[in-house]
Amino acid sequence: MSMNWPEKVIFCEVGPRDGLQNEKTLLSVEQKVALIEGAADAGVPIIEVGSFVHPKAVPQMADTDEVAKKIRRLPGVEYRCLVANKKGVERALASGITKVKLTLSASESHARANMKKSIAELLEGFKECTAFAHENGAAVSGAISTAFGCPFEGKIPVTKLVEITEKFMELGITELSMSDTTGMANPRQVYDTASFMREKFPEVRWFLHFHNTRGMALANMVAGLNAGIIRYDASLAGLGGCPFAPGASGNVASEDMLHMLGEMGIETGIDLDRMIALARQLQQWVGHCTDSSVLRAGKNSDLISRTEAKKQ
Ligand code: ZN
Repeated sequence: MSMNWPEKVIFCEVGPRDGLQNEKTLLSVEQKVALIEGAADAGVPIIEVGSFVHPKAVPQMADTDEVAKKIRRLPGVEYRCLVANKKGVERALASGITKVKLTLSASESHARANMKKSIAELLEGFKECTAFAHENGAAVSGAISTAFGCPFEGKIPVTKLVEITEKFMELGITELSMSDTTGMANPRQVYDTASFMREKFPEVRWFLHFHNTRGMALANMVAGLNAGIIRYDASLAGLGGCPFAPGASGNVASEDMLHMLGEMGIETGIDLDRMIALARQLQQWVGHCTDSSVLRAGKNSDLISRTEAKKQ
């Protein structure tokens, strides 16, 4: 196989949302604001700030309104939030968030476990939600969760992804993420699926979102890059998981992904050292070790500078 590398990757930090929503330790509004501002200052172009869902369902995200209002906005940075209904869009707009994301599971069983609704019912609700957002000048993107595999249903057929993508497009949504919520994707599957979906829907701006549950996330990213996808989500320090997916562990760590891209000569415009410092701070705040190779081992270049220092 001849490899095909893009020059540039557009990176989205999802730690403040996907990462923190699964942590027992609740961060303060100030800590969340520092995290988001820190990522923006490091050069991250897209940040998922939080979610506007019911505070009883996800208490970790109950203060998203306050966080969104407090963050100092950098021009050119996209601050987006997850919503599940019209009420969520209203809260987003009231907090100055003009980009919202709707998530739909590719698996009926996961949709029921996660949202307590069928896919058809969820899509019905999305209509009102999207129309309201568009009327009020907010942009809407979509995510297909369990896109590569479901803990209840196993492998997800590509026909299912096509079906859901068509539904999203009927709503006027052309920015979509395929999310491996439970870390079941493998590189060959990602390459085949991403190549197929890109060709089938050339008008869609695709994101890929990998969890490192079984150690395949970076390999999956390489497969995605080769299939021509240039937008990726990750979470600082590798926080995250899914409360409804048994055994699901964190998102791939942002610093691991950015370090790999840097070593490969693929540009992101992000200051890796600042991201590592933030990830370290975040690990302290949540109070436990997380799945981050770079936090454990340091960067390649640290090693070289240590060896050189010894020589002198
Ligand atoms: Zn995720």
